[in-house]
Amino acid sequence: MTAPAPRPGIMDIRPYVGGESAIEGVSRIVKLSSNEGALGPSPKAMEALKALAPEIHRYPDGGAEALRQAIGARYGINPDRIVCGAGSDELLGILCRAYAGPGDEVLYSAHGFLMYAIAAKACGATPVTAPEVDLTANVDNLLKAVTPKTKILFLANPNNPTGTYLPSSEVARLRAGLRPDILLVIDAAYAEFVSRNDYTSGNELVEAGDNTVVCRTFSKMFALGGLRLGWAYGPENVVGVLNRVRNPFNVGSAALAAGLAAFQDTEYAELCKRHNDYWLPWLSEQVSALGLTVVPSVGNFILIRFPKDAGKDAATADAFLRSRGIIVRAMGAYGLGDSLRITIGTGEENQMVVDALREFLKK
Ligand SMILES: *Cc1c(COP(=O)(O)O)cnc(C)c1O
Repeated sequence: MTAPAPRPGIMDIRPYVGGESAIEGVSRIVKLSSNEGALGPSPKAMEALKALAPEIHRYPDGGAEALRQAIGARYGINPDRIVCGAGSDELLGILCRAYAGPGDEVLYSAHGFLMYAIAAKACGATPVTAPEVDLTANVDNLLKAVTPKTKILFLANPNNPTGTYLPSSEVARLRAGLRPDILLVIDAAYAEFVSRNDYTSGNELVEAGDNTVVCRTFSKMFALGGLRLGWAYGPENVVGVLNRVRNPFNVGSAALAAGLAAFQDTEYAELCKRHNDYWLPWLSEQVSALGLTVVPSVGNFILIRFPKDAGKDAATADAFLRSRGIIVRAMGAYGLGDSLRITIGTGEENQMVVDALREFLKK
């Protein structure tokens, strides 16, 4: 007798480990490990959540009508081409299951978001990576890595954990160089933070064909990671697939209500954007001034590279920051064992990070 066996690939998955949130014996924790919005959720989102409490025996609107309408109106896109998900992670997973399987390849850049490998293996497909240049996705390398088996290309733009991005001209060149039957999934989880004239989340590529989809999330700028809410904008054929494969009530009523309130609180979103616009360059400059290498980021986090010297390396820095109650993200799982990723926090938290790193380097 043998136990039931999962499909090939499943046991190769290294389970995703989220950012830690506690240190034994430390009461005040500064959690900068998961790129959650520094200022917390919109007060209006919190009110909407409370107001919903007496109604939670009701099933949610499985079509997420009000939220899709609001998103469509804001971005000038057709609400019928939007699908909401329990975080964008759910949508990335569904796309993998629907478009790839055993024998197929799922392509992404070397330091792309960890979920792509998990989603690929979970559906039995083979994850394939293409080398980056200066910790940035490289269109030529991605195109060279395409084989007849390639079914999906995931591009996080901007990428997590590097914080780097491709300008829209490069993403368009990528799309143009890919076979039309390859699904390009642009994961724009940090789009709200980017202030660059040459950046777009990629909606124009969705509209130009039937093979590109953009995924967005409420977990970062809108700071609703605990509720699980994301959305995809895609062509009719891809939206039809997502709506067939997702669970009918995949997004809960709490996420829908708080998400809509957060989305409509544009004043608060602007405050969060201004906060990041100030503190992202501030933290980058302060950490660089300490002699560490900071990868130029357009998101709400920075990747810091440490020297290899014993006592000054990333692992020792991580332990030192923890001893000060500061939790950041170690990058071994991304093949960047010499780096730490730090989320932009409140002004006080950012100052604590700089002070702690200064003390660490002086030791
Ligand atoms: C955080 C993140 C996501 C996941 O967001 P959820 O909507 O919380 O599932 C997706 N892609 C990237 C690149 C991220 O950093």
